[in-house]
Amino acid sequence: MKNFLGTPLSEEDFKKKNFCYETWIANCFYAWDCGKAIGRYLEGLKEGKILGVKCPKCEKIMVPPRVFCEWCFVRTEDFVELKDTGKINTFSISYISWDVKRLEKPQIPAVIEIDGASPGYGILHLISEVDPKEVKIGMRVKAVWKEEKEREGKITDIKYFKPY
Ligand SMILES: [Zn+2]
Repeated sequence: MKNFLGTPLSEEDFKKKNFCYETWIANCFYAWDCGKAIGRYLEGLKEGKILGVKCPKCEKIMVPPRVFCEWCFVRTEDFVELKDTGKINTFSISYISWDVKRLEKPQIPAVIEIDGASPGYGILHLISEVDPKEVKIGMRVKAVWKEEKEREGKITDIKYFKPY
């Protein structure tokens, strides 16, 4: 069987830039409808709230919200405000930015299980204000929000999560 795992880049590869990538500014315009559930979620973020949705059948509370429960296949319309705290479910320490730039200070993307949601439901965000060596699965974290007037109804209305 062929190995599809690829070849990891070494320190030497980064120094010599032994890889290729391209960036460009796409000259296109588009509109995207985020839908009812995510639309409400983004409105909540603008108000400084993390919203989930509760399944009327199994009562799971899911975040981010969705229009139906993927376990019961029933419509979900009962939005509930969750806490802006949670625990780290999984994380990574990344020294490469999303656009393939070397980072001196690593980013720590993590899946955070939000308090008030059912176990296993969480959101992907960044962890900060902590030594990367101290980050652990299960660590308690709290959202650090942008100032109210700066919020736009985006996931980045939460700047990051920090231990508390
Ligand atoms: Zn359900």
